[in-house]
Amino acid sequence: MRRGDSDAGAVAFLTGMGAGLLNHEAGHQLAATFSEDDLRWSGTTWECRADCNAATIASSGFLAESLSSELLLNLPETPRKHPFVAGWLVWNIANPVLYTLHHELAGPHGDLKNFSRREARIMESLLVAHAASTALRWSGTVGEIEPFIFAREDGIAFGVAIKW
Ligand SMILES: [Zn+2]
Repeated sequence: MRRGDSDAGAVAFLTGMGAGLLNHEAGHQLAATFSEDDLRWSGTTWECRADCNAATIASSGFLAESLSSELLLNLPETPRKHPFVAGWLVWNIANPVLYTLHHELAGPHGDLKNFSRREARIMESLLVAHAASTALRWSGTVGEIEPFIFAREDGIAFGVAIKW
């Protein structure tokens, strides 16, 4: 690989990470637009009125990441291996994990501060499970992963089933 190729690859990778960030923030804005809430942006931080749909808006950034991961993982092999896609997927894997760690170790943080402690724990479990599922499927180290969620009489059950 020539130096120019690796430089272009690094730029594409970083651009992909930036696309991941923009996709996350676009998820918030889209949810706010659909729920007719006004967001005030300061960099990558948003605020809305006290009576806004904060939980929906907050979770939509993570939802946008999960949906984009599913789309990117299902691209044909050639574009899926492009550094731009790699950067985007690294963002989608790292952001929810780092968010969860920050929220658990340093206290209420960012989007997760819009949920009760119990709700945040459920959200964190889903985020980390999906990030791990994305990483495993992307790396191709396992055959097939099937996320599952179902209602029970006394609550919900969710997780991932891994087929070797
Ligand atoms: Zn966010």
